[in-house]
Amino acid sequence: MRKRPIATNDPHIQALARIVGEQAILYRKEDLMAYDCDGFTVHRHLPRAVVFPNSTEQVAAVVKYCHEHDLPFLARGAGTGLSGGAIPLNGEVVISLTRMKRLLHVDLENRRAVVEPGFVNLKLTNSVAHRGYYYAPDPSSQYCCTIGGNVAENAGGAHCLKYGVTTNHILGLEVVLPNGEVIEIGANGVPDPPGYDLLGLLTGSEGTLGIVTKITVRLLKNPEAKQTVLAYFDEVEDASQTVSDIISAGIVPAALEMMDQTAIEAVEAAAFPVGHPKDIAALLLIEVDGISAGIDEQIDDILTICRRHHVREVKVAQSEEERARWWANRKTGFGAMGAISPDYLVQDGVIPRSRLPEVLNEIANISRKYGLRIANIFHAGDGNLHPLVLFDASKPGETERALAAGSECLKACAAVGGSITGEHGVGIEKKEEMRFIFTDEEILAQTAIRDVFNPKNLLNAGKLFPTPGRCVETKRIPSAVK
Ligand SMILES: Cc1cc2nc3c(=O)[nH]c(=O)nc-3n(C[C@H](O)[C@H](O)[C@H](O)COP(=O)(O)OP(=O)(O)OC[C@H]3O[C@@H](n4cnc5c(N)ncnc54)[C@H](O)[C@@H]3O)c2cc1C
Repeated sequence: MRKRPIATNDPHIQALARIVGEQAILYRKEDLMAYDCDGFTVHRHLPRAVVFPNSTEQVAAVVKYCHEHDLPFLARGAGTGLSGGAIPLNGEVVISLTRMKRLLHVDLENRRAVVEPGFVNLKLTNSVAHRGYYYAPDPSSQYCCTIGGNVAENAGGAHCLKYGVTTNHILGLEVVLPNGEVIEIGANGVPDPPGYDLLGLLTGSEGTLGIVTKITVRLLKNPEAKQTVLAYFDEVEDASQTVSDIISAGIVPAALEMMDQTAIEAVEAAAFPVGHPKDIAALLLIEVDGISAGIDEQIDDILTICRRHHVREVKVAQSEEERARWWANRKTGFGAMGAISPDYLVQDGVIPRSRLPEVLNEIANISRKYGLRIANIFHAGDGNLHPLVLFDASKPGETERALAAGSECLKACAAVGGSITGEHGVGIEKKEEMRFIFTDEEILAQTAIRDVFNPKNLLNAGKLFPTPGRCVETKRIPSAVK
């Protein structure tokens, strides 16, 4: 970071600079522009300033200052969020956690580690892999997203089908509350601790209840064996039915991913092509892991199910190198859309697995209705769809059409008993769509919880819940939930 003397008369900037140091604050417009959005690039707003604290004490002092002076503020990790959670809608002071990136402690005997919030997800597995351990939640952005951001979004990933999402791997948190107080929550693995489950509440709260400054995570032992299958289908229905039948057969794959034809076109045109046939309707990437005994039988069962559903070609990875290439191809799937479209929106609906064919059909109808291509690349095993709406923001009206198409995809998910987000959070992107799944009363109950932690609503305001003025937030909170 460049060291430049503070050149502003803004007393708040001067005060914040005294807390974090003059070299750890940005306030000039040209510097702030890099923080005007996150992975949801449709909305852009400049923050008032960006501060880079290097300790819990500094985070707490910044928050206390903002609280006392009624300055809106929010936390930011790597800025890879796809729902706009880190966008400074209200000219916030952005508290970037990227300097708090230390691995503080590894305790393999008790299978846990303690990290600062800016520690990058993949670095944790890389730090313990040589000792036979790993950190399970593996969002496709894991090479750059932070564990603090993962906690806030309750991030998932390809291998979360068998091992669970972030909340299943968090044992304790240190949190700076919106008034600057520091608390520790979580009972470090005690199965049924007394009191409310604050750990569960904070995980996935999208940075609206507090700023996480320390995280104790669970580490898992590397599985003894692993095998990966790639299956090509001529019909989406056959691929979908294969997904259902694998799970119904009692097999719980570590990962069960699906891509449709448009997604395959993109990944084959991008950085890690593996030679998938371009004329197939869908592919499945299936991984099983565990103790060696039984893995071969599971693979045999999976191959049989694929054949029962008219698979065109199915193969098992013959080496770790081949497996890694298949995964690189899949994990860069979102970014690969840039190879076939100038802009894209990532949606994140959830549906019961059994409704896959019907909802994919509905998404195809939505694509036709709006005249926009929609690629599907998703965690099929847990019904977590990612329709990617392709558009060109330079064409008048196309961004609005893309947003409307994305919203309709979520409506289709909600209509079959699903949800509007499986892992990317609500942020600003889906806050109006909360109405697809919650009643006014249910939203009020949730905003009442936020108000207990964040009574001035200075922390990350305007996220997660429908916009005040158009929604329930303007109604009185019933005393029962106050
Ligand atoms: C190519 C790509 C692939 C992706 N794949 C996946 C995927 O497979 N699974 C998945 O779940 N997500 C995925 N994502 C979304 C994103 O990476 C995750 O949501 C991730 O958890 C965000 O982490 P971050 O550090 O970038 O957080 P940011 O984007 O900086 O912040 C996200 C939210 O968390 C809050 N926040 C950040 N740090 C803290 C903190 N310390 N305390 C409190 N609140 C905080 C912010 O205020 C904001 O609301 C993907 C994104 C991209 C760009």
